[in-house]
Amino acid sequence: MNLRLPAFPKKKKLSSFAVLTSGGDAPGMNAAVRAVVRYGIANGCEVHGIIKGYSGLIEGLFQRMDASSVANILQRGGTILKTDRCEEFYKKSVRREAAEILRRRGIQGLVVIGGDGSFTGASLLEAETGFPTIGVPGTIDNDIAGTDDTIGFDTAVNTAIDAIDRIRDTASSHDRIFLVEVMGRSSGFIALEVGIGGGAETIIVPERKESLASICSTIDRGIRRGKTSSIIVVAEGEKAGLSAQLAGDLEKRGYKSRVCILGHTQRGGSPTAHDRMLASALGASAAAFLMGGKSNAMVGVQRGVVTLVPFKSVIGVKKGIPPELLTLAQVLAT
Ligand code: ADP
Repeated sequence: MNLRLPAFPKKKKLSSFAVLTSGGDAPGMNAAVRAVVRYGIANGCEVHGIIKGYSGLIEGLFQRMDASSVANILQRGGTILKTDRCEEFYKKSVRREAAEILRRRGIQGLVVIGGDGSFTGASLLEAETGFPTIGVPGTIDNDIAGTDDTIGFDTAVNTAIDAIDRIRDTASSHDRIFLVEVMGRSSGFIALEVGIGGGAETIIVPERKESLASICSTIDRGIRRGKTSSIIVVAEGEKAGLSAQLAGDLEKRGYKSRVCILGHTQRGGSPTAHDRMLASALGASAAAFLMGGKSNAMVGVQRGVVTLVPFKSVIGVKKGIPPELLTLAQVLAT
């Protein structure tokens, strides 16, 4: 994947830090944990794993890591550190307490592997208490600004494309329209790549409203050209049941369709080579930057170069899908 690492700070400013995974899990999180731990230890740091994200931090679920505590996890999906959604961490008083817990243990910095919400927690922790934090983008949605790619996205896309290839066999045997729902509440990155890579006739993403009339006319165009089956990739969107609703609307217009919701199958599984490489580079870079005194930022990848991006340019910033790729998908499907 042609990744390049930047020059890391030369001086080591801290000697003990912790790492946690938070929010939705993503394939490659383990590879990132391994890289953080091994890079830290190789450079003379004490590294602590926190079990169950911010909940474990508050509950004191710490584990001293050594090189072998991350052995044999590179290829495994999920996260050995477990992950969680922690309501308590929304409270300032709890974040203050969290910084105290870390300091009492002699820990001087925190690597947070997760998504936008997890980074918000990390950034508030640092702003309010001065405790240094650094983020690693781990989410299948690829919806994090400041990085071209997130850990887990490539694996999720490949899993979904594999499913589409199988569904297409059935769609063409039975001359059917299939609506395949992929993950993506507010972001269509997965749907876009899965749609292009899986040769979908239409892609429905939250970023662009597609009228029923336009979907029907795409199906009709295909039928006129001799197509007997179609795949429509639908990003799940904010409201549950979007693909079922669309199937109902199509039925009213005389098109019979089937719905297949890929759901959590997209979250698990062994990370692809791409995600292992990305996670290894970003995990090691996060440790290197944190040890060198950098914080309040995320490590991302921009045009192939691992880059430190301030949290303020990441959190809450919408990363739009490239509209020309949506157009490309339409052109290629005709
Ligand atoms: P992701 O990191 O994948 O976006 P979430 O949005 O669920 O996942 O956030 C994960 C966790 O990060 C939350 O359960 C909470 O502990 C913490 N977090 C999220 N948003 C905030 C916030 N605004 N303030 C403090 N902590 C937050």
